[in-house]
Amino acid sequence: MSKRGGADIFIHCVHLKGQEEHGNFWGAAQTVTGSSHHLECARKNILLDCGLFQGKRDQAHEINSHLAMSAAQLAGHGPDALSAVVLSHAHIDHSGNLASLTKQGYRGPIYTTPSTIDLCNPMLKDSAHIQEGDADFMNRRRGKRRMIGAPEGAVPMEPLYTEADAEQVLQQLKPVKLYEPKLLAGSSVDGGFTMSSTNAGHMLGSTCVLLEAVEKGQKTRLLFSGDVGRKNLPIIQDPDPAPAADYLIMESTYGNRLHQPIGPVKQKLAGLVRRVAARGGRIIVPAFAVERTQQMVMLLHQLIDEKLIPDIPMFVDSPLATNVTEVFRQHTEDWDQEISAFSKTASDPFGWQRLKYTKTVQESKALNDLHVPFLVMSASGMCEAGRILHHLKNGIEDPRNLVLITGYQAANTLGRKLVERQPEVNIFGEPMRVRAEIDSIGELSGHADQHELLSWMEPVVPTLKKVFLVHGEPLAQQALKEEIEKVYKLEVICPKRGDRFEVG
Ligand SMILES: [Zn+2]
Repeated sequence: MSKRGGADIFIHCVHLKGQEEHGNFWGAAQTVTGSSHHLECARKNILLDCGLFQGKRDQAHEINSHLAMSAAQLAGHGPDALSAVVLSHAHIDHSGNLASLTKQGYRGPIYTTPSTIDLCNPMLKDSAHIQEGDADFMNRRRGKRRMIGAPEGAVPMEPLYTEADAEQVLQQLKPVKLYEPKLLAGSSVDGGFTMSSTNAGHMLGSTCVLLEAVEKGQKTRLLFSGDVGRKNLPIIQDPDPAPAADYLIMESTYGNRLHQPIGPVKQKLAGLVRRVAARGGRIIVPAFAVERTQQMVMLLHQLIDEKLIPDIPMFVDSPLATNVTEVFRQHTEDWDQEISAFSKTASDPFGWQRLKYTKTVQESKALNDLHVPFLVMSASGMCEAGRILHHLKNGIEDPRNLVLITGYQAANTLGRKLVERQPEVNIFGEPMRVRAEIDSIGELSGHADQHELLSWMEPVVPTLKKVFLVHGEPLAQQALKEEIEKVYKLEVICPKRGDRFEVG
């Protein structure tokens, strides 16, 4: 998952000692978005993830353009050109800059799991629309400034990439099943990279990637955690134990946090729905289109079947969530036992009679005129854009309603302001009194917390020489670094921009 903050970090070279392997950490070092790591061995170059930095529009565009330029250096055909990309999972902060890579001319393979490929289709196209919309917005804003006499700005801003660039990525995605070894570049004997992956338990199709780098007969194993998930999350299978490796590149998003246990979340949800329905209110759920929406839908379906909540009308009002749900339906091989068993009693775990996936804007707007209790789930999950804003505008001043926050809310977002119980918020530039009840369900987080990260890495500790912490804000990284040093007595490095390492 993505959240904001921290600076972009560009780190040169994890250099494998005594050999010629090295790599660049391009992003997600001391920040939680924009995962992308470049490794080199025997003059073969590969990239682990190619994610987008997600943050404030101007800053994000600058950082992502920088990442795209880094990509361009490897996208061509010279001796140092990229041989392959490995994608750990479909979240945009890991996959969203792949289209910059193809825009810069990269035409090689991008290896990932079959379900990640199917998720990338709607997600990358959606990301391209956002890029095109952002460029349009910035250009219109510049135009308005010129009209009021501001100095001429730079040339019109181009979108980072377009839907055509995203389409090109889809042509280059190649399926590799979990645990299947795949030669990425060179030879597994004379020098090169081989990969295999294990289940990360973070989202549908998510993986941890084990790389074997060989040069002059010497083998070095490097484990990339991707994003580590949690046990007992709805729908997806639990994370596999970490496989043996010499070096670990690990995420640290929640390196300083501990989650609530997942167990009671269904009962909590049932209580909330019953209470709001009884007082005639509506339940407005800002939910991330991927994973969180599907989890919520399945839990609500189970609660209705178990007659623990009234069968009120429910709506998924997000075209992206609707497309993503179809991918969840198809990839039953990634389901856990609970949903597999549930699918035997409910023909479609993600659908029932009174659940409607709205398609058109008209259908979405029509919900404003519905005067019975109902539940609507819509994106964006942090209330920054999308149809959720209309539902909030129409419902936030009514004390019978509930706004149910379902995930992390970054600083300065509307979602964060609601969580902080600010009495007044701006929606579409208009001040609104927050009279609706605000509640949160944080238990469905897809990221391992500090204890879960320590426990995930425990099996690999005996063989580890060093740990690199990435994909986390400085405070989270520092806390996790101290714990790993204390508990496992390992050397831990939090890479910074420009750092250079030799490993091996
Ligand atoms: Zn993720």
